[in-house]
Amino acid sequence: MSEDVNPFESLQEQIDDAAAYLDVGPDVLERLKRPERVLETNLSVELDDGSIELFEAYRSQFNGDRGPYKGGIRYHPNVSRDEVKALSGWMVYKCAVVDIPYGGGKGGIVVDPREYSASELERLTRSYAKELRPLIGPDKDIPAPDVNTGQREMNWIKDTYETLENTTAPGTITGKALTSGGSEGRVEATGRSVMLTAREAFEYLGKDIAEATVAVQGFGNAGSVAAELIADDLGASVVAVSDSSGAVYDPAGLDVAAAKAHKMETGALTGFDGAESELTNRELLTLDADLVIPAALENAIDEDIAEDVRTDMIVEAANGPLTPDADDVLTDRDVAVFPDVLANAGGVTVSYFEWVQNRQRFNWTEQRVNDELERVITEAFDGLTDAYEARDLPSYRTAAYVVAIQRVAKAADESGVFP
Ligand code: GLU
Repeated sequence: MSEDVNPFESLQEQIDDAAAYLDVGPDVLERLKRPERVLETNLSVELDDGSIELFEAYRSQFNGDRGPYKGGIRYHPNVSRDEVKALSGWMVYKCAVVDIPYGGGKGGIVVDPREYSASELERLTRSYAKELRPLIGPDKDIPAPDVNTGQREMNWIKDTYETLENTTAPGTITGKALTSGGSEGRVEATGRSVMLTAREAFEYLGKDIAEATVAVQGFGNAGSVAAELIADDLGASVVAVSDSSGAVYDPAGLDVAAAKAHKMETGALTGFDGAESELTNRELLTLDADLVIPAALENAIDEDIAEDVRTDMIVEAANGPLTPDADDVLTDRDVAVFPDVLANAGGVTVSYFEWVQNRQRFNWTEQRVNDELERVITEAFDGLTDAYEARDLPSYRTAAYVVAIQRVAKAADESGVFP
């Protein structure tokens, strides 16, 4: 894992790599590599003991040529201006790969939420929502959950926005609880698209996923759901899963639901008695499994780990889990990497369905949500592999960016430049 790779520079490198295969002028390209604006704010929040603490917070609006800015809000001690800028750019290209009518944005607060009470987090979230209010709205910028945020935080932001605006506007934010205007299938959506991408990838490469062994690094909303669906729906054997406490391993396959229950109960995966042994995160990432899924944070696989990777296939559930150098090593070593902007796009795709439902004030069934998601992801997969073959591109990531940049550049070109 590499701490010193700047994710914003990684994003710019990925764009440059793909732009080399495209006829995009340098003026347009420069606009596609930088955010349109970034809000940086310091939130004063009263803690339970009456003291006041300041929290640094951001919202980056990267590009709005294809529609309202869209993207999650992250609570993590490592949030930084450059991380938020990178994540907002990845949202632009993710929405373009799956062809949903959004631009990209991302927000974050520098905080370790485990150190604060629920009422402190509520005051922090409402203070952030107050700062966001002029920027967000169903037609402007639509936040959603990301690392360490979920329905609870989305409901607080929605309520703050609606109270201050004296209206009801559920489409201001997605990832809400069902009873507060959320969508069926949204919680599972990111893991579901990882599963669908893995299914398509195995089929495309002529391999049988039912015979495959799978290792999953990260057991949050994306990793745990992906692991469960890959085991239950596709019949693969999930041999290792990890969280920040470490990894649990069983070559005969883990009972993912039991591992999930153990984590719910104890707060950590380690100590799970359904496993044969425990591994480090590095050992998990370099396991000789048929598929490795990094589902934690950026830069999980650096050049050094990439040299030791033994799998033939990686499906990225996290945003930016490979450094650009790791990407180069894996491309040279013929490891098939299916990129984040496709594989984890299920989250924002079902956010889009939630927003459509909110606008129509009409709720879809879970079946309809899952069917539409499957259509979007399989069409995007086909578009990406078509570009990969037709243009003889070096990696599936470059293929994804080629498809996405073409769409964004066309919209940017059609919009022109406001004087
Ligand atoms: N945070 C998720 C992502 O990185 C979801 C974003 C959304 O639903 O807008 O894709």
